Amino acid sequence: MLPVQKKSKCRKRTRRAHHALRRPGLADCPKCGKSKLPHAACANCGYVSAKVALPVGEEAT
Ligand SMILES: [Zn+2]
Repeated sequence: MLPVQKKSKCRKRTRRAHHALRRPGLADCPKCGKSKLPHAACANCGYVSAKVALPVGEEAT
């Protein structure tokens, strides 16, 4: 099946004007200060909240 009609350069480029990726927001880890994704465990120290921390390291994987 082929498209019924060729899409013009303008139409194609207008559609793709919304395809750019955006950087994720970053928050600072309160424990080690490194940047981390909000609402996620810190990849550096495993900090989640005051009570919860995930194990980080070779044996944790
Ligand atoms: Zn951390």
